[in-house]
Amino acid sequence: AQGNTYKGRFAPTPSGDLHFGSFVTAAASYLDARKNHGQWFVRIDDLDTAREVKGSAQAILTTLERFGFEWDGQVSYQSQHTERYRHFADVLLNQHQAYWCECSRKVITARCPVGEYGPVYDGYCRSRAVAPGANRSLRVITNQGANQTANQSVVFNDELKGESAIDLQATLGDFIIKRADGIFSYHLAVVVDDHDLGITHIVRGGDLHPLTGQQVFLQNSLHLTHPQYAHLPIVLDAGQRKLSKSSNAPPIDAAPAPAVLFQALTVLNHSPPDTLRGAPLNELWAWAIAHWQLEKVPGETNMMLPDLTSV
Ligand code: GLU
Repeated sequence: AQGNTYKGRFAPTPSGDLHFGSFVTAAASYLDARKNHGQWFVRIDDLDTAREVKGSAQAILTTLERFGFEWDGQVSYQSQHTERYRHFADVLLNQHQAYWCECSRKVITARCPVGEYGPVYDGYCRSRAVAPGANRSLRVITNQGANQTANQSVVFNDELKGESAIDLQATLGDFIIKRADGIFSYHLAVVVDDHDLGITHIVRGGDLHPLTGQQVFLQNSLHLTHPQYAHLPIVLDAGQRKLSKSSNAPPIDAAPAPAVLFQALTVLNHSPPDTLRGAPLNELWAWAIAHWQLEKVPGETNMMLPDLTSV
Protein backbone atom coordinates (compact mmCIF):
# COMPACT_ATOMS: atom_id res chain seq x y z
CA ALA A 1 0.00 0.00 0.00
CA GLN A 2 2.80 2.41 0.94
CA GLY A 3 4.41 1.70 -2.42
CA ASN A 4 1.59 3.33 -4.31
CA THR A 5 1.70 6.54 -2.36
CA TYR A 6 5.43 7.16 -2.08
CA LYS A 7 6.47 10.44 -3.74
CA GLY A 8 10.07 11.55 -3.56
CA ARG A 9 12.04 14.33 -5.20
CA PHE A 10 15.46 15.78 -5.96
CA ALA A 11 15.59 19.56 -5.75
CA PRO A 12 18.93 21.01 -6.89
CA THR A 13 19.71 24.72 -6.72
CA PRO A 14 21.01 25.82 -10.15
CA SER A 15 24.15 27.47 -8.81
CA GLY A 16 26.63 25.30 -10.72
CA ASP A 17 27.17 21.84 -12.18
CA LEU A 18 26.10 18.72 -10.34
CA HIS A 19 29.02 17.56 -8.17
CA PHE A 20 29.62 14.22 -6.48
CA GLY A 21 27.86 15.28 -3.25
CA SER A 22 24.67 16.27 -5.05
CA PHE A 23 24.94 13.17 -7.23
CA VAL A 24 24.94 11.00 -4.09
CA THR A 25 21.81 12.84 -2.92
CA ALA A 26 20.09 12.38 -6.28
CA ALA A 27 20.98 8.68 -6.37
CA ALA A 28 19.81 7.99 -2.80
CA SER A 29 16.46 9.75 -3.23
CA TYR A 30 15.94 8.03 -6.61
CA LEU A 31 16.79 4.58 -5.28
CA ASP A 32 14.56 4.99 -2.25
CA ALA A 33 11.64 6.00 -4.48
CA ARG A 34 12.18 3.19 -6.98
CA LYS A 35 12.70 0.55 -4.30
CA ASN A 36 9.35 1.61 -2.81
CA HIS A 37 7.62 1.60 -6.22
CA GLY A 38 7.14 5.31 -5.78
CA GLN A 39 7.25 8.35 -8.01
CA TRP A 40 10.30 10.60 -8.17
CA PHE A 41 10.20 14.25 -9.20
CA VAL A 42 12.85 16.79 -10.12
CA ARG A 43 12.41 20.38 -9.04
CA ILE A 44 14.80 23.20 -9.86
CA ASP A 45 15.16 25.45 -6.79
CA ASP A 46 15.71 28.67 -8.74
CA LEU A 47 14.11 30.96 -6.18
CA ASP A 48 17.11 33.17 -5.68
CA THR A 49 17.67 34.45 -9.18
CA ALA A 50 20.80 36.37 -8.15
CA ARG A 51 22.57 33.14 -7.15
CA GLU A 52 21.54 31.30 -10.29
CA VAL A 53 24.34 30.43 -12.70
CA LYS A 54 23.07 30.82 -16.24
CA GLY A 55 22.65 27.49 -18.00
CA SER A 56 23.20 25.41 -14.88
CA ALA A 57 19.58 24.20 -14.56
CA GLN A 58 19.79 22.72 -18.05
CA ALA A 59 23.27 21.35 -17.39
CA ILE A 60 22.02 19.58 -14.24
CA LEU A 61 19.11 18.02 -16.14
CA THR A 62 21.41 16.90 -18.95
CA THR A 63 23.75 15.29 -16.42
CA LEU A 64 20.84 13.50 -14.70
CA GLU A 65 19.72 12.15 -18.07
CA ARG A 66 23.21 11.01 -18.96
CA PHE A 67 23.34 9.05 -15.71
CA GLY A 68 20.05 7.33 -16.53
CA PHE A 69 17.76 8.99 -13.98
CA GLU A 70 14.11 8.82 -15.08
CA TRP A 71 11.82 11.33 -13.37
CA ASP A 72 8.04 11.40 -13.30
CA GLY A 73 6.06 14.25 -14.81
CA GLN A 74 7.45 17.62 -15.77
CA VAL A 75 10.43 19.27 -14.10
CA SER A 76 9.08 22.04 -11.87
CA TYR A 77 10.70 25.42 -11.21
CA GLN A 78 10.39 27.43 -8.00
CA SER A 79 10.60 30.67 -9.96
CA GLN A 80 7.12 29.84 -11.34
CA HIS A 81 5.49 29.34 -7.92
CA THR A 82 5.66 32.86 -6.48
CA GLU A 83 1.86 33.16 -6.27
CA ARG A 84 1.68 30.00 -4.15
CA TYR A 85 4.33 31.34 -1.76
CA ARG A 86 2.44 34.64 -1.52
CA HIS A 87 -0.77 32.76 -0.74
CA PHE A 88 0.78 30.86 2.17
CA ALA A 89 2.56 33.97 3.48
CA ASP A 90 -0.85 35.68 3.51
CA VAL A 91 -2.31 32.76 5.47
CA LEU A 92 0.33 33.31 8.16
CA LEU A 93 -0.32 37.06 8.17
CA ASN A 94 -4.07 36.48 8.49
CA GLN A 95 -3.48 34.04 11.36
CA HIS A 96 -1.43 36.80 13.07
CA GLN A 97 1.56 34.50 12.98
CA ALA A 98 3.70 36.78 10.83
CA TYR A 99 4.68 40.44 10.87
CA TRP A 100 6.63 42.95 8.80
CA CYS A 101 10.04 43.96 10.04
CA GLU A 102 12.17 46.95 9.11
CA CYS A 103 15.35 46.05 10.98
CA SER A 104 18.34 46.05 8.65
CA ARG A 105 20.98 43.37 8.86
CA LYS A 106 23.39 45.96 10.26
CA VAL A 107 21.01 46.95 13.06
CA ILE A 108 20.31 43.30 13.89
CA THR A 109 24.00 42.44 14.02
CA ALA A 110 24.62 45.31 16.41
CA ARG A 111 21.63 44.64 18.67
CA CYS A 112 20.87 40.90 18.76
CA PRO A 113 22.72 38.04 20.48
CA VAL A 114 24.51 35.53 18.27
CA GLY A 115 23.33 31.92 18.28
CA GLU A 116 24.45 28.74 16.58
CA TYR A 117 23.32 29.91 13.13
CA GLY A 118 23.90 33.66 13.43
CA PRO A 119 22.02 36.50 15.10
CA VAL A 120 18.93 35.51 17.12
CA TYR A 121 16.24 38.04 16.21
CA ASP A 122 14.89 39.70 19.36
CA GLY A 123 11.33 40.31 18.14
CA TYR A 124 11.81 44.08 18.05
CA CYS A 125 9.21 44.70 15.31
CA ARG A 126 6.69 42.16 16.54
CA SER A 127 4.47 44.70 18.29
CA ARG A 128 5.35 47.73 16.16
CA ALA A 129 2.71 47.21 13.40
CA VAL A 130 5.17 47.95 10.60
CA ALA A 131 3.34 48.38 7.29
CA PRO A 132 4.40 46.31 4.27
CA GLY A 133 6.64 48.12 1.81
CA ALA A 134 10.05 48.28 0.23
CA ASN A 135 12.92 46.85 2.28
CA ARG A 136 10.60 45.18 4.77
CA SER A 137 11.04 41.52 5.55
CA LEU A 138 8.29 39.21 6.75
CA ARG A 139 8.94 37.15 9.89
CA VAL A 140 7.04 34.32 11.58
CA ILE A 141 6.45 34.32 15.31
CA THR A 142 8.19 31.22 16.62
CA ASN A 143 6.96 31.01 20.19
CA GLN A 144 3.24 31.28 19.80
CA GLY A 145 0.43 29.03 18.69
CA ALA A 146 -0.59 25.43 19.05
CA ASN A 147 2.60 24.62 17.27
CA GLN A 148 5.00 23.62 19.91
CA THR A 149 5.52 21.33 22.81
CA ALA A 150 5.53 22.71 26.35
CA ASN A 151 9.23 23.42 26.20
CA GLN A 152 8.74 25.32 22.91
CA SER A 153 10.78 23.00 20.73
CA VAL A 154 9.84 21.80 17.26
CA VAL A 155 10.19 18.02 17.15
CA PHE A 156 10.71 15.89 14.06
CA ASN A 157 11.99 12.46 13.23
CA ASP A 158 14.69 11.57 10.74
CA GLU A 159 15.01 8.03 9.43
CA LEU A 160 18.82 8.17 9.64
CA LYS A 161 19.50 10.63 12.43
CA GLY A 162 16.64 9.87 14.80
CA GLU A 163 14.53 12.40 16.67
CA SER A 164 15.51 16.06 16.88
CA ALA A 165 14.04 18.84 18.98
CA ILE A 166 14.90 22.37 17.91
CA ASP A 167 14.15 25.44 20.00
CA LEU A 168 13.64 28.04 17.27
CA GLN A 169 13.12 30.94 19.64
CA ALA A 170 16.48 30.27 21.29
CA THR A 171 18.47 29.56 18.12
CA LEU A 172 16.93 31.94 15.56
CA GLY A 173 14.10 33.96 17.02
CA ASP A 174 11.29 34.94 14.65
CA PHE A 175 12.72 33.90 11.29
CA ILE A 176 12.27 35.39 7.83
CA ILE A 177 9.83 33.94 5.30
CA LYS A 178 10.12 36.80 2.81
CA ARG A 179 13.32 38.73 2.48
CA ALA A 180 13.63 42.50 2.33
CA ASP A 181 14.58 42.17 -1.35
CA GLY A 182 11.16 40.59 -2.02
CA ILE A 183 12.33 36.98 -2.43
CA PHE A 184 10.45 34.35 -0.44
CA SER A 185 12.66 32.31 1.87
CA TYR A 186 13.87 28.87 0.93
CA HIS A 187 12.02 27.43 3.95
CA LEU A 188 8.62 28.72 2.92
CA ALA A 189 9.21 27.76 -0.71
CA VAL A 190 10.32 24.22 0.00
CA VAL A 191 7.39 23.59 2.37
CA VAL A 192 4.86 24.92 -0.14
CA ASP A 193 6.39 23.08 -3.09
CA ASP A 194 6.70 19.75 -1.31
CA HIS A 195 3.08 20.11 -0.24
CA ASP A 196 1.90 21.01 -3.76
CA LEU A 197 3.81 18.07 -5.26
CA GLY A 198 2.40 15.74 -2.60
CA ILE A 199 5.88 14.70 -1.50
CA THR A 200 5.80 11.97 1.16
CA HIS A 201 9.53 11.24 1.54
CA ILE A 202 12.44 13.69 1.52
CA VAL A 203 15.90 12.17 1.16
CA ARG A 204 18.42 15.02 0.97
CA GLY A 205 21.83 16.29 2.02
CA GLY A 206 22.75 16.33 5.71
CA ASP A 207 23.65 20.02 5.52
CA LEU A 208 19.91 20.73 5.55
CA HIS A 209 19.22 18.74 8.73
CA PRO A 210 19.83 21.69 11.10
CA LEU A 211 17.37 23.78 9.06
CA THR A 212 14.55 21.24 9.04
CA GLY A 213 13.05 22.60 12.27
CA GLN A 214 12.00 25.77 10.46
CA GLN A 215 10.29 23.75 7.76
CA VAL A 216 8.46 21.51 10.22
CA PHE A 217 7.40 24.64 12.13
CA LEU A 218 5.89 26.10 8.94
CA GLN A 219 4.12 22.80 8.17
CA ASN A 220 2.59 22.94 11.65
CA SER A 221 1.54 26.57 11.30
CA LEU A 222 0.00 25.97 7.87
CA HIS A 223 -1.62 22.65 8.88
CA LEU A 224 0.25 20.67 6.23
CA THR A 225 1.24 17.04 6.59
CA HIS A 226 4.87 16.25 7.38
CA PRO A 227 6.93 14.27 4.90
CA GLN A 228 9.23 11.57 6.25
CA TYR A 229 12.79 12.95 6.37
CA ALA A 230 16.11 11.19 5.82
CA HIS A 231 19.25 13.34 5.84
CA LEU A 232 22.29 11.77 4.19
CA PRO A 233 25.91 11.94 5.29
CA ILE A 234 27.86 14.88 3.89
CA VAL A 235 30.62 14.17 1.37
CA LEU A 236 33.87 15.95 2.29
CA ASP A 237 37.00 16.60 0.26
CA ALA A 238 40.52 15.71 1.41
CA GLY A 239 40.65 18.98 3.39
CA GLN A 240 37.46 18.03 5.31
CA ARG A 241 35.43 20.67 3.48
CA LYS A 242 31.92 20.04 2.24
CA LEU A 243 31.83 19.83 -1.54
CA SER A 244 30.29 22.92 -3.01
CA LYS A 245 29.16 23.77 -6.49
CA SER A 246 31.11 26.97 -6.57
CA SER A 247 34.50 25.85 -5.28
CA ASN A 248 36.24 22.57 -4.58
CA ALA A 249 34.08 19.92 -6.24
CA PRO A 250 35.47 18.15 -9.29
CA PRO A 251 32.80 17.96 -12.02
CA ILE A 252 31.38 14.45 -12.31
CA ASP A 253 30.97 14.89 -16.04
CA ALA A 254 34.70 14.29 -16.50
CA ALA A 255 34.55 10.74 -15.06
CA PRO A 256 32.96 7.66 -16.68
CA ALA A 257 29.30 7.47 -15.56
CA PRO A 258 29.39 3.84 -14.28
CA ALA A 259 32.45 4.66 -12.16
CA VAL A 260 30.70 7.63 -10.55
CA LEU A 261 27.60 5.55 -9.78
CA PHE A 262 29.71 2.69 -8.40
CA GLN A 263 31.51 5.13 -6.07
CA ALA A 264 28.27 6.81 -5.01
CA LEU A 265 26.80 3.43 -4.06
CA THR A 266 29.96 2.61 -2.11
CA VAL A 267 29.77 5.91 -0.19
CA LEU A 268 26.14 5.05 0.62
CA ASN A 269 27.30 1.72 2.08
CA HIS A 270 25.81 -0.23 -0.83
CA SER A 271 28.98 -1.34 -2.55
CA PRO A 272 28.12 -3.48 -5.60
CA PRO A 273 29.82 -6.90 -5.95
CA ASP A 274 33.16 -7.05 -7.76
CA THR A 275 31.47 -8.73 -10.73
CA LEU A 276 29.80 -5.36 -11.46
CA ARG A 277 33.07 -3.44 -11.78
CA GLY A 278 33.02 -2.01 -15.27
CA ALA A 279 29.36 -3.02 -15.78
CA PRO A 280 27.14 -0.64 -17.78
CA LEU A 281 24.90 1.88 -16.02
CA ASN A 282 21.63 -0.01 -16.45
CA GLU A 283 23.07 -3.12 -14.76
CA LEU A 284 24.34 -1.03 -11.86
CA TRP A 285 20.97 0.68 -11.44
CA ALA A 286 19.11 -2.64 -11.56
CA TRP A 287 21.39 -4.09 -8.87
CA ALA A 288 21.11 -0.93 -6.75
CA ILE A 289 17.29 -0.77 -6.90
CA ALA A 290 17.04 -4.44 -5.95
CA HIS A 291 19.47 -4.09 -3.04
CA TRP A 292 18.64 -0.61 -1.71
CA GLN A 293 18.06 -0.37 2.04
CA LEU A 294 17.91 3.18 3.33
CA GLU A 295 18.75 2.05 6.86
CA LYS A 296 22.19 0.86 5.68
CA VAL A 297 23.24 4.46 4.92
CA PRO A 298 25.40 5.84 7.74
CA GLY A 299 23.49 8.43 9.72
CA GLU A 300 26.18 10.39 11.47
CA THR A 301 29.58 9.92 9.85
CA ASN A 302 30.67 12.10 7.00
CA MET A 303 31.96 10.55 3.78
CA MET A 304 35.23 11.11 1.96
CA LEU A 305 35.22 12.04 -1.69
CA PRO A 306 36.49 8.92 -3.52
CA ASP A 307 38.74 8.88 -6.57
CA LEU A 308 36.13 8.98 -9.31
CA THR A 309 38.47 7.71 -11.98
CA SER A 310 39.33 4.39 -10.35
CA VAL A 311 36.86 1.57 -9.99
N1 GLU B 1 17.73 23.25 -3.24
C1 GLU B 1 18.37 22.76 -2.06
C2 GLU B 1 19.85 22.54 -2.32
O1 GLU B 1 20.23 22.29 -3.43
C3 GLU B 1 17.79 21.46 -1.58
C4 GLU B 1 16.37 21.59 -1.17
C5 GLU B 1 15.83 20.37 -0.51
O2 GLU B 1 16.23 19.25 -0.85
O3 GLU B 1 14.94 20.52 0.33
O4 GLU B 1 20.63 22.60 -1.42
